[in-house]
Amino acid sequence: MAPFSSCTDVRPEVAEFEAYEPGLSMEEIRLRYGLDQVIKLASNENPLGVPPSAREAMKAAICQAHRYPQGGNPKLVQALASRYRVGPERIFVGNGSDELIDLLFRVRAVPGVHNAVAFSPCFGLYVTQAKMAGVELRRAPLGKDFEFDFDALLNLTDENTTLAFVTSPDNPSGRVARPERLKAFARALPPACLLVVDEAYMEFADEGQSLLAELDSLPNVAIMRTFSKVYGLAGMRIGYGILPAILTDYLWRVRLPFSLNILAEEAAVAALGDEAFFLDSLRTVREGRALISRELKEMGCSVIPSQSNFIMFSPPAGRIEAKALHARLLERGMIIRSLGSYRLPEWLRVSVGLERENRLFLDLCREFIGA
Ligand SMILES: *Cc1c(COP(=O)(O)O)cnc(C)c1O
Repeated sequence: MAPFSSCTDVRPEVAEFEAYEPGLSMEEIRLRYGLDQVIKLASNENPLGVPPSAREAMKAAICQAHRYPQGGNPKLVQALASRYRVGPERIFVGNGSDELIDLLFRVRAVPGVHNAVAFSPCFGLYVTQAKMAGVELRRAPLGKDFEFDFDALLNLTDENTTLAFVTSPDNPSGRVARPERLKAFARALPPACLLVVDEAYMEFADEGQSLLAELDSLPNVAIMRTFSKVYGLAGMRIGYGILPAILTDYLWRVRLPFSLNILAEEAAVAALGDEAFFLDSLRTVREGRALISRELKEMGCSVIPSQSNFIMFSPPAGRIEAKALHARLLERGMIIRSLGSYRLPEWLRVSVGLERENRLFLDLCREFIGA
């Protein structure tokens, strides 16, 4: 590498980064198209909003905001430990799963020596944080209809592979990895490799799809989850991991001491205890998912079976292209996700909303597809 010559030179990995391009905000779209209301079904957020219990907890915590959070967030760690019946020494919490992903690369991979593996397409953060850490990320394409191809992923690993990321249910496909297959994959990995199963959407899947209950017999597996989806707290930035205790210990040592703020911690503890909100979210998502999947299929769309809170679909060939459908929905105030950044220009992803939002989305699709 050429030596730095100026006080504004940056690491080559950083120089390659492209600026994050945020989409138009809901307010910008409302103004641009002169709309009364805008509906956002683009980011897999919880359509029910913030759990009432978490709102109350945050209000009460505001008066403590002049204090630093307690190091190690013991209150939340303990609540998660009880909930999942694992020792608190195995639980790590951070500023969104995003922070955990970032730290895993920096803790488990020596830049320029170790590598990581993931599928393609995959969650964008795996790609950006690997790059930021200077770690090679090897990608195996998903199989036909976005099925997991674990043999292809395994083929990319070698003795220097220290991380393997699998998202289940996957984003953007919504597919869940069969637990038996995932376990066989974990057992076949080289000894230095930690399998990280990103279960951000697992609560929405059918029973028995998570590896969480079997972690004791899977020493090289870690699980990541989040409060951003089923718990309705995406804006508060709270993610957590259940990992081998030794790794958790290292993660705590290097995490910025106060990355999880006081309001976030109180909100998370309250949401975790709010069984009514949790069940309501599940019911809303499962019913909405069934409705959207069924009706999109009736319109002739290709629909990937989803175990998540979103649905990936492709409009019928010859009727309207994905890009055009996305634009026309936007003009009418319906924001869904185009998948260009996943290099899937033919596909769109819609998050499950409230029933009236889902019906409006479907009515607009019917109009634009002409079904
Ligand atoms: C939404 C999502 C997360 C959650 O990220 P947070 O930083 O906790 O909001 C993690 N992984 C995937 C694949 C996701 O789609």
